[in-house]
Amino acid sequence: MNDLRSMTADEIRAALKEMGEPAFRGAQIFDWVQAKKVRTFSEMTNLPKALRERLAAEFALSLLTVEKRLVSQEDGTRKYVYALPDGLLIESVFMPYDYGNTACISSQAGCRMGCRFCASTLEGLARNLLPGEMLEQIFRMEEDTGERISHVVVMGSGEPLDNYDNLLRFIRLITDEKGKNLSERNITVSTCGLVPQIGRLAGEHLQITLALSLHAPNDALRRTMMPIAQAYTVQETVAACDAYFTATGRRMSYEYSLIEGVNDSEACAKELAALLHGKNAHVNLIPVNPIRERDYKAPDRAAALRFQKRLENLGINATIRRKMGADIDSACGQLRLRAKAEQGE
Ligand code: SAH
Repeated sequence: MNDLRSMTADEIRAALKEMGEPAFRGAQIFDWVQAKKVRTFSEMTNLPKALRERLAAEFALSLLTVEKRLVSQEDGTRKYVYALPDGLLIESVFMPYDYGNTACISSQAGCRMGCRFCASTLEGLARNLLPGEMLEQIFRMEEDTGERISHVVVMGSGEPLDNYDNLLRFIRLITDEKGKNLSERNITVSTCGLVPQIGRLAGEHLQITLALSLHAPNDALRRTMMPIAQAYTVQETVAACDAYFTATGRRMSYEYSLIEGVNDSEACAKELAALLHGKNAHVNLIPVNPIRERDYKAPDRAAALRFQKRLENLGINATIRRKMGADIDSACGQLRLRAKAEQGE
């Protein structure tokens, strides 16, 4: 790894030592890339010029550039399309919630999970993002808004657990007290349900929130929506989430995208309630964001509320996700696709 923003303080120190530099230089550089969030080596003004030049020759510094930016006049939500150094595009969202500014970031350019309702996967996976490229999304949003981001959800394009090592490194870096110093508790990672990796994550004993994209209460229905349901059953997936809760004490969050006539029936609500009965879990209902390439539609507000009430009456904690930035609306991943098409023109 030669991307400085993807390296831990120890790794930077070791690399500098090998270059014959004193240990304190490593701490200075970590401070520049993680706390001061510089874009270039020349900004590292407390380093000798010769060292800056050597660093520039031997290391990369992950850097994103804004390709497109939409600002909601209604609630201050901002959607960004960033270009990676190799020209690939990713999407990130800034949401000013009451409890703190939240960044929704991407973990991969594209995705190979193939969920039927999702725009991010339509063109497959381009590549994994580096830890530094995940950090950069947050740093550039802070720079653009002039605001501090206190919460991060890894719910942009990509399957974070399909980029496991870089995700873990990202979490270690962003929670480093000499870097951005974000609290683990303010990080949510959402997965379509890679069962072995959920087990591995439980073993890390992090205090992050895990969100599981369930979307259907049984295998037959889930298999029509998500290819991953062919690999792992709903039972095994929920069992992995139970183990995550046992290992970490963190309440599970289950995402359920409501699709009219597909998974919003009374029978589905009952089956979902039975599946999650007695668990320390929260259900996040997301009226599906229709994408042009698919025929899925969201139920109307009354139907979504009925589904939520049914769950609550059966003892399941459920909320309907508030729609942010309705005036700059474009379903998750669609902004990127559009920008990509424009890029190709
Ligand atoms: N790969 C991860 C994170 C990415 S998406 C995962 O699958 O969880 C974050 C959430 O948005 C997931 O629950 C995903 O299923 C959901 N989602 C994707 N496209 C959607 C759409 N068009 N409408 C509503 N929810 C969507």
